[in-house]
Amino acid sequence: MAVRIAHRRSNRPQAGRARGRIDPARFHAPARSNTISATSVSCDPGLSQPTWSFDALPTYGPGASLADPLPALAPRQGALPATYREASAEELAARIRTAKATLGDRVVILGHFYQRDDIVEHADFLGDSFQLANAALTVQDAEAIVFCGVHFMAETADVLARPEQAVILPNLAAGCSMADMANIDDVEAAWEQILAAVADSPGDGRQPIIPVTYMNSAANLKAFCGRNGGIVCTSSNAAAVLQWAFERGQRVLFFPDQHLGRNTARAMGVPDEAMPMWNPALPLGGNSPQALADARVILWHGFCSVHRRFTVEQIARARAEYPGVRVIVHPECPAPVVDAADESGSTDYILKAVQGAKEPTTFAIGTEINMVSRLAAQHPEHTIFCLDPVVCPCSTMYRIHPGYLAWVLEELVAGRVVNRITVGDDASADARLALERMLAAVPSATPPGGKA
Ligand code: SF4
Repeated sequence: MAVRIAHRRSNRPQAGRARGRIDPARFHAPARSNTISATSVSCDPGLSQPTWSFDALPTYGPGASLADPLPALAPRQGALPATYREASAEELAARIRTAKATLGDRVVILGHFYQRDDIVEHADFLGDSFQLANAALTVQDAEAIVFCGVHFMAETADVLARPEQAVILPNLAAGCSMADMANIDDVEAAWEQILAAVADSPGDGRQPIIPVTYMNSAANLKAFCGRNGGIVCTSSNAAAVLQWAFERGQRVLFFPDQHLGRNTARAMGVPDEAMPMWNPALPLGGNSPQALADARVILWHGFCSVHRRFTVEQIARARAEYPGVRVIVHPECPAPVVDAADESGSTDYILKAVQGAKEPTTFAIGTEINMVSRLAAQHPEHTIFCLDPVVCPCSTMYRIHPGYLAWVLEELVAGRVVNRITVGDDASADARLALERMLAAVPSATPPGGKA
């Protein structure tokens, strides 16, 4: 479940408290301010500029996804009023607190684990995407849900929320480069090609193919799964969902993240040769009809640019410098990285592994830098650092700046709803069906100590 946050000063992460802090010349944490410090070693100089500098540009913005192509129709954020752009960090924090106090129970703020600290400190709930969507269900009286995360998360919250509740994304440019790697036209074209390619294969009473989409996908892809006997998965229940799909289908089409699909299926004994990749730019996805007929999992050609940064070499260096280090990576990392780590699991898994460590432990973690830095600050009894020595946050999570949060909240105080995210009724019903199938498939969380 998402963590409901009690807003007491002592609960705020205290940067610099961490016991056994890592040499900052080797491993860097993001500065606790509205931008990455100019003295941090970051992957992009744009991280030292205000977030709104990038709203008019056709890119995901600075950070891990900067080089990923932005779809032409991706939502853009209009200009943030100067009163927010010119305010200091302290002034914005005060304005957010005042607006939130004025709105009271009429608004709930959800914060993803990958959000910066100056957003998380205002969140009512902190969690991963599905935990936060479920958290939205527990606040039925709230008129507005402000989702400090990315676009697909706000869509999922809208699918699960009451129709009267407004789900708000503070910055419309906060998409997800991985989610954008699969779109409904390409998936429907792939579906037809695969069905035709396997039409002459012997049947066994199961569907020829079951679509499985990762939570990190657009609502119309979740709806596609709902319409076609498919299901949604998260990084913490992917094995249970794949098991559900194998019981009902001869094959699975898994999108958009190839790595989560591959890592999960490999752990279930599916050989690599039974997992062809589907490249939507190529006929038959770049495969022969026989390869598709022999497939157990057809993997979409998608990936997360944050988790793709982690390497086997980083793990080797961490082990050399910190003998006995416990290496945990997210299953969106490439398979060789998952193989080289001690454990692999979702953000919730990583959180519980750190919280559950009884002895002071050194952790090298392969997930987004904001979450790792927060864990380090909250657990001074452990030594915790990010495997990646360069500060490179998720470009789109980073777009949720306190200026946008202050703006959407003050607009609500004024009786105006801005940046509302809505999913059409038809897509919403089908997407809800795929989400409900996931819930019925009994989500499983791998206990710390194993590979997810
Ligand atoms: S961390 Fe990766 S999957 Fe998550 S929102 Fe960012 S780009 Fe998307």
